[in-house]
Amino acid sequence: MITSGDHMNWKDNLIKIAPYVAGEQPDKRDFIKLNANENPYPPAPGVIKAIEDFRGADLKKYPDANARPLMKAIAEDLGVDADNVFVGNGSDDVLALSFRAFFNSDKPIVFPDITYSFYPVWCEMLGIPYRTLPVGEDFNINAGDYNCENGGVVIANPNAPTGIGRDLSFMREILDANPGSVVISDEAYVDFGGVSALPLLREYDNLIVIRTFSKSRSMAGMRIGFAVGGDTLISALRAAKDSYNSYPLDSVAIAAGCASVADRAYFESTLKKVMATRDRLTAELRAMGFEVPDSSTNFLFAHHKSRKAADIYDFLKSRDIYVRHFRKPERISDHLRITIGTDEETDRLTAALHEYLG
Ligand code: PMP
Repeated sequence: MITSGDHMNWKDNLIKIAPYVAGEQPDKRDFIKLNANENPYPPAPGVIKAIEDFRGADLKKYPDANARPLMKAIAEDLGVDADNVFVGNGSDDVLALSFRAFFNSDKPIVFPDITYSFYPVWCEMLGIPYRTLPVGEDFNINAGDYNCENGGVVIANPNAPTGIGRDLSFMREILDANPGSVVISDEAYVDFGGVSALPLLREYDNLIVIRTFSKSRSMAGMRIGFAVGGDTLISALRAAKDSYNSYPLDSVAIAAGCASVADRAYFESTLKKVMATRDRLTAELRAMGFEVPDSSTNFLFAHHKSRKAADIYDFLKSRDIYVRHFRKPERISDHLRITIGTDEETDRLTAALHEYLG
């Protein structure tokens, strides 16, 4: 019998974790939201039609467990075999499952110190040891650093929040140094001018490429991400999924995702607009005294030569313009990450910055 005083405290058994913190979602209208790398343009018209045409009565059935119609559409679009595509509930879901499926070594996995801040959170959550490797002064990842003992490698290319994209020889150097580890290429932003590792899949069966519909396909709210990889890695991912949640994508998302892939012209025209606005904003920010690395993404990583990032952030917020300011890690606490909006939003941003900088 349990007597008073012997009680285990259930609070001791709760998860202790510092979770990933996403960009603010202000609870008001009429603000400019440039803090979550969302696309300012709507999804393709066919996506909206697919949602409108969806037969609500069909929701009584489970969706296809592997989102097969979408697997096939993505595979055809990329010129790969459908069996080599894995679809999940946003690329966060695909990444988390990948960490679980591929990183079961006692050796630490490695990733840059400045990168997507969800990686260490998944490691904590899943009990995966990890080690971060510092990026250079110019925020470039040094491929040679990844020639080290490890239990896996994660590279965001282009990297976030720096926006810096690297070429195939960079990925190849990392892959050549790591035949004994799974290498994840997180390509959330690759469509905005990055270089994909997809062509390397034929040569490296330890490589997996992970992408999303959230940014370049304007579908962050629908939660669609996918991985492309060899049979062995994709089988491990499916096993991880089927040990956790068999149906990560709902039926509406599958239909909407297929409609997005079907409209290549719209996809390309949206990308072109975002990239043109990005290049214009890069030049304008530099003219205002910001240091901005060339971006291969839909955001800019900006540091002002004389004004504090925190102060610029507060001023913009007072003007209802939300950008992202990371207080940690220290190395980037004086930088802002600014998502590319429409041309009109960009004009309002630059007007506010001119007002602030005088
Ligand atoms: N990878 C990187 C580098 C990201 O910045 C993000 C967006 N926060 C994701 C993956 C996840 O995006 P989603 O889950 O919307 O596909």
